[in-house]
Amino acid sequence: MNRAHSASDPNPLLADWTGRFRLPPFAAIESGHFRPAFDRALAAHRAEIDAIAADPDAPSFGNTIAALEKSGHELDSVANVFFVLTGADTSEEIEAVERDVSPLLARHNNGLYLNQALYARISDLYERREALGLDAEQARVLERYQTRFVRAGAALEKAAQDRLATINERLASLGTQFGQNVLADEKSFVMLLEEADLAGLPDFARAAASAAAEERGQAGKYAITLARSSVETFLQFSSRRDLRERAFQAWIRRGENGGATDNRALIAEMVALRAERAKLLGFASFADYRLDDQMAKTPAAARQLLDEVWRRARAKAAAERDALHALIVKEGANFALAPHDWRYYAEKLRKAKFDLDEAEIKPYLQLDKMIEAAFETARKLFGLTFTQVAVPLYHPDARAWEVTDAQGRHIALFIGDYFARSSKHSGAWMTSLRDQEKLSGDIRPIVLNVCNFSKPAAGEPALLSFDDARTLFHEFGHGLHGMLSNVTYPLLAGTAVPSDFVELPSQLYEHWLEVPQILERYALHARTGQPMPKALLNRLLATRTFNQGFATVEYTACALVDLDLHSLPEAAGLDVTEYERRDLERIVMPPEIVMRHRLPHFQHLFSGGGYAAGYYSYMWSEVLDADAFAAFEERGDAFDPATAERLRDYIYSAGNLREPAKAYEAFRGRLPMVDALLKKRGLTEPGSGAE
Ligand SMILES: [Zn+2]
Repeated sequence: MNRAHSASDPNPLLADWTGRFRLPPFAAIESGHFRPAFDRALAAHRAEIDAIAADPDAPSFGNTIAALEKSGHELDSVANVFFVLTGADTSEEIEAVERDVSPLLARHNNGLYLNQALYARISDLYERREALGLDAEQARVLERYQTRFVRAGAALEKAAQDRLATINERLASLGTQFGQNVLADEKSFVMLLEEADLAGLPDFARAAASAAAEERGQAGKYAITLARSSVETFLQFSSRRDLRERAFQAWIRRGENGGATDNRALIAEMVALRAERAKLLGFASFADYRLDDQMAKTPAAARQLLDEVWRRARAKAAAERDALHALIVKEGANFALAPHDWRYYAEKLRKAKFDLDEAEIKPYLQLDKMIEAAFETARKLFGLTFTQVAVPLYHPDARAWEVTDAQGRHIALFIGDYFARSSKHSGAWMTSLRDQEKLSGDIRPIVLNVCNFSKPAAGEPALLSFDDARTLFHEFGHGLHGMLSNVTYPLLAGTAVPSDFVELPSQLYEHWLEVPQILERYALHARTGQPMPKALLNRLLATRTFNQGFATVEYTACALVDLDLHSLPEAAGLDVTEYERRDLERIVMPPEIVMRHRLPHFQHLFSGGGYAAGYYSYMWSEVLDADAFAAFEERGDAFDPATAERLRDYIYSAGNLREPAKAYEAFRGRLPMVDALLKKRGLTEPGSGAE
């Protein structure tokens, strides 16, 4: 595409971005710029696609595959900026554009993947692939194009394609609405408390609640919100059982409150449409369709792993429940443990058993020090250096660092946006403003980590829980997968791998948070600057498998319900609440534990659908990450240089160059074994106590 006229376009989204890192000019971008920018970028990409499809020359890798890979840059730029904002700093205006644009983008993708002339060229090349003289990466790109087009329906009859196109557009709209509804429910609930309601809350939790109230114009009060850091901390410490129940009920009913933000009808329609789409594409169910292109390959393979973990996790959770109940009785009460009690009594038990108190650990886990710890880990493993740079970003809380390698070469720009706010969706994620590639020049990425940690009052240091710190390392691991990417073709770059493999770089990175060398150096007390006492550090690491029955049940139930729901051959008229209840009954869910994400707010499945029939991915990847970290342990060095080099070459920098199983084998010398996962979660002996 000719971009010569771009430089003078008054729309900053369409101008050529300048400056040292070619960042979008955020200060100049207004919500009104997006729709016209999308319209022009979509038209430009459509023209590029049409030109490739109509090329009078016989198809070649260059005039078809490489040409497609070089197309759509403007659309990528506009969409990347837009989706950073819809997730991390949205507004009513942005949400309105999002509702308009999401079906347009789906229609645009239909125009690409259901383009007959284009598909004819790709499949012609694919048939002749052995004779084309392609290198390994080109062969992989061609194979991925063929697979993508076939999986999108390019080889189907016209009538089926028309129906698929309609389904895709509708699913895009429903997914957008789903996410906006969850955000609306989260925004509309605030539990405002007075000083007298704070019984049990440690100082850091009071300070965070006070800051949250102030952000909502309620200075002097204390606000508990539905951000995970806020509500979970409250559930862990508040001795007010009535308030715990109120907060917990609001939290688990997001998306299920009736009225305009109720998600149940949307879910029913999405599940039915997904099942119909799978059937049109020749699969028995959406799960069969989805997993066919994942590392697991079949729902049965994913289910086998989940079932094995589930059995052991339930036994461990039952033992944990008994221990918590004993504590209630010991305190002289006689009620049965309820879901809103679990975190509170688990915290008490942890304190009693390990003399370990979250409030005692937290002052040692300063956000800025944990960021440094993540950076230092990347330096020791991959030779990377992070230097903070002052560049204008989309929100004052976001910060940027330039990333360079051991030779001082620019590798990436990394943006960290860590604090919860009402304009941000819940959860934590990695995303990018630009992806790595070498086809259109040596393009280095701009990668973001977005989290929802509690923001401290002005002048106070931000403190994390150990779980928060783990989340930070997790997202940073995804970030490195994007930043270290070293491929030629954009299709294969960074995190563009199957979702049951994409959690390997992130979950593996969490292990380094628990390496004593890292905590000894970076767990420094916020006031005194003193390192965490050795005894406390040891006690912290000793609690690794404490409450893992609960955590594993909370997660695995979600993965099983997701897989069951998306294995339905058809799903017309689904009653979502009833379905969830019955499926939990079938798997014998412990009544004291609630799914980590109930269906009405399960954004992994329904807000876009990246993890639909794919929530099992975290467990699947955990088999890999536990086994991968054992490779370092076997060498007796958590930073063993030779192992780190293979890890970078075959995993963190390799994108989707190889089939996941082949990539893993190249790193490890063999396929993964499940033993390390069971050991990590303390699930090796079923029912072996509550640790
Ligand atoms: Zn992740």
